[in-house]
Amino acid sequence: MRYRVYPLLTGHFTVAFNGKGDLKFPRVKDIPSYIFLLVDENGEAVVVDTGFDLNHIPAPDSHGEREPEQEIPYLIKQTGIDPLNVKKIIQTHLHWDHAAGIKHFPNAEIYLQAGEIEGLFNLREYEETSFCPAHWIDRLENFILLDGDHKILPGIEVIRTGGHTQGHQAVKIEGENQSILLLGDSPFTYEWLWTLVPDAYWDEYRSGKGGKFFWTAELLSVIDKWYKKMKPGSTRLLKDYTIDDLQSLGDMKVFSHDPGLKGKEYL
Ligand SMILES: [Zn+2]
Repeated sequence: MRYRVYPLLTGHFTVAFNGKGDLKFPRVKDIPSYIFLLVDENGEAVVVDTGFDLNHIPAPDSHGEREPEQEIPYLIKQTGIDPLNVKKIIQTHLHWDHAAGIKHFPNAEIYLQAGEIEGLFNLREYEETSFCPAHWIDRLENFILLDGDHKILPGIEVIRTGGHTQGHQAVKIEGENQSILLLGDSPFTYEWLWTLVPDAYWDEYRSGKGGKFFWTAELLSVIDKWYKKMKPGSTRLLKDYTIDDLQSLGDMKVFSHDPGLKGKEYL
């Protein structure tokens, strides 16, 4: 089966924290946020990643922009697909800017790596602010947890890359003319961020406008209780992919935040 792959621009965001004195946070400015719609020859659709929420951009001086025609339901309908008929979502990972639009697809099952959930129990201090369980906590029963590489449908497979998050996965698609590898945020990691930001930043962040980005203890126990039931029988030790590993995987490589996708109707 071959797929037409639509990159859908859901807006831009800037992540910023205007700290006092020495507390300077690297500003990440006007980042385009894409989700991807895959449509097969029979009109069946799969969505890869679900974008960000304007009301939830971590760091207190952040902001996002979204035009009415960049709303996810509008974008999907423009291609002739009804979001209510989307039966499968693939999440490359669960960061706040990739999983906020799950709510637009109430009839979809959601494929992700078990390692992504396991990673939530092993986050480094403050890293919880990179995830927003409110985006998906009421959809846990729709999650399908994978343990490594997996064929989702003929012509669509996921490849567990790790690196960016513990359970990050890329999606390889048989496109109309070539194979397409949706890389999500791989191989980018946040190591640099965690070495740059001093503890004093986090203290100021948590006590002020940033407090809402930290998790409650109840959240983790809800996830834990569910995961104990759902966990795959065996969890394999899986390596993280390097740039070279990723290079060999598909003809065309596509990143979730690539400004170069602008103006491309489909791939
Ligand atoms: Zn990410």
